[in-house]
Order: sequence, then C-alpha cells, then structure tokens
Amino acid sequence: MPLATIVHLDADAFFVSVELATRPELKGKKVAVGGRQRGIISSASYEARAAGVYTPMPSQRAVKVCPDLILLPHSGNYSEVSRQMFDLCEDLTPLVQRNSIDEGYLDLGPCGLKSAEAVEQVVRDLQVRIWAELSIPISMGIATNRLVAQIASKLRKPRGFVVIEPGREQEFMAPLDIKEMPGVGPKMQERLRGLRINTFGDVLALGDSALQSAVGDGWRDFKARCAGEDDRAVEPERGEAKSYSHQRTFGRDIEEFAEIERIAKGLLDDLMSKVRADETRIRTLTVLVRYGDFSQESAGRSLPEATDLETAFYPLLPTLLKKAWHKPRALRLISVRLSGVDDRPAQLDIFGATDDKRRRLAGLMDQLNARDGGAGLVRAHQLPKAKH
Ligand SMILES: [Mg+2]
Repeated sequence: MPLATIVHLDADAFFVSVELATRPELKGKKVAVGGRQRGIISSASYEARAAGVYTPMPSQRAVKVCPDLILLPHSGNYSEVSRQMFDLCEDLTPLVQRNSIDEGYLDLGPCGLKSAEAVEQVVRDLQVRIWAELSIPISMGIATNRLVAQIASKLRKPRGFVVIEPGREQEFMAPLDIKEMPGVGPKMQERLRGLRINTFGDVLALGDSALQSAVGDGWRDFKARCAGEDDRAVEPERGEAKSYSHQRTFGRDIEEFAEIERIAKGLLDDLMSKVRADETRIRTLTVLVRYGDFSQESAGRSLPEATDLETAFYPLLPTLLKKAWHKPRALRLISVRLSGVDDRPAQLDIFGATDDKRRRLAGLMDQLNARDGGAGLVRAHQLPKAKH
C-alpha cells in the first residue's frame, strides 16, 4: 500500500492570527483585519465570522453587521510570519510548495517515514510547532495527492486535521459539495446545480455527454478530479512562487497621474530594497489599480534580465500605469507587485558600469535606512509635491 505523504497546510484566519500573536488579549473576540475608512476586510476571526463578517467585505458594512467588531489595520508583518512558517516546513522536507502567503503543500516522501502513523505524528508535531513558535493556528490535510489534501485541509477549520487513506479518495470526495472544488466558480456551480448536480458523486453519476455539454472541453479532467485523482507533483520552486507586493489605499480618490506615479515609484523602491535584502533579483513588474467601486485592472511586463535595481523598472512604470488605468476615473488604491524571482547569481552585468554605481547608491540607502530604525532617506520622487 502506498503511503499518503502529501500535506496541504492552511493557516486559519492568517492575518488575524498574526495580529493576535502580539495581542493575546484579543483572542476569542470578534476581530478582523482591514482598512477602516474605505478598506475591505481581508481576514476575520472565527468569532467574527459567526457574527456575519466575511472576506472580502467592505469594512464599513462589517462594522454595521457586527457593531462590536475589533477592526485592526494591516500591520505589514504577514510576509515575515509566512516566511517563518514555511521555514519550519522546510526543516522537515525540501519539498515545500508555497501556494499563497498562508497556504502550501508538503511532500513528506523524502522523510523516509515507514507508516501512516509516523506521517501523522510528524504532521501533528509540525502543527504544534507552528502554534508554539508563531502562535498561528493551522489546518492540515494529508492524502496521496495535492487536490485531496487541499480539500481535506479546508474541511474542519480551524485547527483541522484530516487524513484520507490511500484508495479512499473517491469515497471521501463523493458526498462533498461541488463548491469545494478549487476553480469551480459561481457560474459553473449554477450550471451544474441546474442539472441537479450538487456533489462530486453526482458528477460521476452523470453520463459523459451530459457532463461534456455542462462543463465543456475540460470535462475529462474535471471528472477525474471529482473522483479525487490528481497527478501534479509538489513543486518547491521557491523562486517562482515568491513575489513581493505593496499596496496603498488613499484617504480620498486620486485622479492626478503624476501623484499616482510618484506613489507607485515609492512602493517600487521599498519593494526593491527588500529584494536586495533577500540577495535576489527580479524580472516582472505588475501594477494594479482599483477604482472607487472596487473594480480593478492590472498590467505587467518582464525585463529581459532579472535585476535588483528599481531604476531598471522606472521606464516601465508609467507605461504599465497607463495601460492598467485606462478609465477616466479616480483611483482608491494602487498596488505594485514584483515576481519572477531569479536566485541564480548574475551571469554577467549587462547593465554595465552605470548600474554598478546605481547599485552602490541603492545599497547605501538601504543600509542607512536600516540603521536605528531608518534614517528616513527617500528618493526625491517620494517627496510630496509642494503646494503652490
Ligand atoms: Mg488560510
């Protein structure tokens, strides 16, 4: 019998849990993380959820639904805690795949464990360790493949621990609601429910041609997934999955291009100093804009070669900003994201001597800014424009 060694781990109410770690007096209360005035709820404690708060939901609505909600602003510690959490996973196995800031897969295959009991013990120990060291509650799913492990981990939150034995995948899936399948959106759900298909078992019972007309071209894959089949490996491409992002919500909507560009550049500068601190380089810049009604657009582009200098991205920034921000409307939020991490050492410096100078200057600014909580050095474009 093969061992089930694939684990999906999913932190419970991650942002809230990170906040509660430093404010234990708030544990057990109705707590949410989100922007106060114009923001949305990005994480809610289970107590807050029971009172009708969900994500994403406008914060103003959340405080109406739940008047005693304790609404905390984003503290910005989340990526650091996430990194620590995945570091603990990597203590266990090199096969760790981050899916998002608070979710990922582990393959315990390389641990050489001999029994299902041994696997369970190791996973329980990890769950306990993440709680003990980071005060983050985690739900775990163990199965023979990623899909089943992922669905299992979400089933008994918070602090869930669900093991699906090898060979029982289909049996496990059959009674579950189709909404548990990652990627099945409201439209597809509606179509399937119209055919009285509510569970994965219902999908399997449907004839192939009926399924094909309901789901379209991907029906074979869909059917296999509904039976709990999945042959995707756990891929520890740390670099690929990793990204850096920063966003800012404005107190009032902004419509001046120069102002938005200045803010975006400031966000980019901050991110690139993190990239340098990680001693890595990056290829892709994505800009996202959000309008007053929460609709959003993004645009991204990659450089031919990865870089650790913000100046390499400066020429792309206005172009991407114009592409994303194509409606003549004011913005409430801008977000800048860097992805396509390249951890390999630079082959040769195609940027030449000028960039060496720029790199020294950037490194010097990073150092000064790190000293004594920051010397407060900023590039000229980060300064607010003087009012005339
Ligand atoms: Mg989670």
